[in-house]
Amino acid sequence: FPSRLPNVGTTIFTVMSALAVQHKAVNLGQGFPDFDCDPKLVDGVTTAMQQGHNQYPPMTGIAPLREAIAAKIEALYARRYDAAAEITVTAGATQAILTAILCCVGPGDEVIVLEPCYDSYVPNIELAGATVVRVPLTPGTFRPDFDKIAAALSPKTRAIIINTPHNPSGTVWSPADMRRLDELLAPTNVLVISDEVYEHMVYAPLQHESVARYPGLAARSFIVSSFGKTYHVTGWKVGYVAAPAALTAEFRKVHQFNVFTVNTPMQHGLASYMQDPAPYLNLPAFYAAKRDLFRAGLARTKFRLLPCEGTYFQSVAIDQLAVPERELSEADFCQWLTREIGVAAIPLSAFYGDGFDQKVVRFCFAKKDDTLRAALERLARL
Ligand code: PMP
Ligand code: GLN
Repeated sequence: FPSRLPNVGTTIFTVMSALAVQHKAVNLGQGFPDFDCDPKLVDGVTTAMQQGHNQYPPMTGIAPLREAIAAKIEALYARRYDAAAEITVTAGATQAILTAILCCVGPGDEVIVLEPCYDSYVPNIELAGATVVRVPLTPGTFRPDFDKIAAALSPKTRAIIINTPHNPSGTVWSPADMRRLDELLAPTNVLVISDEVYEHMVYAPLQHESVARYPGLAARSFIVSSFGKTYHVTGWKVGYVAAPAALTAEFRKVHQFNVFTVNTPMQHGLASYMQDPAPYLNLPAFYAAKRDLFRAGLARTKFRLLPCEGTYFQSVAIDQLAVPERELSEADFCQWLTREIGVAAIPLSAFYGDGFDQKVVRFCFAKKDDTLRAALERLARL
């Protein structure tokens, strides 16, 4: 039968992680921590299981977790979402994004993505039968180019997906960027899917600009976040969507027939753990120290460092390496680096529909300091 996704293979993250295992490389490719989460979080889940929280939870997520999410958003971004009608617990951000797309776009609609972008967006839009409109972020700086976004808007534009802090570049949108987007969309009915999974990884002096802070944007946005990133539990696959009641109602229609519910004991563990804001408030300092350690080491290699304002990703240009390495495609370079040097990375070309190759690769620094040092020792051989 004809493939629904003829151009899709196995994700680059899976491919590079498998190659890293095969070559015993330090895996700085796929984004996940190599250290464990807070044992208190695990205790909360264990207790929930022992207390018998092992059956289906409410379709929208357990009330204490939705309430904790609403309280956090209000404390950080000064907007009150109604925990009953405007917050939905999801199976990670991946399901949240797919569900948001499926509930609001269909054939004939256009959805704008800003490239480079996370690899699930485009196939999700294609599965919905809608048309992908790719707008490049500014080459080199990866900042949004509002003239290009304005030019891409059409009467058929149904939604735009934005992502700040940005995977893969680590760029963080400024208040001016958010205001420009708000002004640009004000005369339209365009919806926003705002992927904010790295909201708690923004480095001083910057702060996260959630669409929640901007009334005009909040009114048209699905805010997507993920506990996997914030609490070092990527394998738990729990996230959430905050959106105005009318959007949430449509979201839940799809959600109930997509996953129906998200695992119960994790929700209880997360709800108790969220009562203390310290873990997410301390996250920028925790990751800034790793970023600084990693950047200081990379500065002694032949890689050219790009800025890192947020996320746990550091991108580097390979254009100052020796020949022939600097002449390899990004994808071939990442394979070579994994095999020969023993460090896995991700090519930025994987985040572009046309495989645009700018000789930049991405490392993940959500790793123990010893892991980062081991990787740096190997990279210093280049
Ligand atoms: N969006 C972005 C930008 C991401 O980096 C990730 C993490 N892989 C996701 C969405 C998916 O998050 P989750 O693991 O919670 O599904
Ligand atoms: N978001 C993670 C990354 O960008 C990986 C998630 C995945 O493996 N799909 O590396």
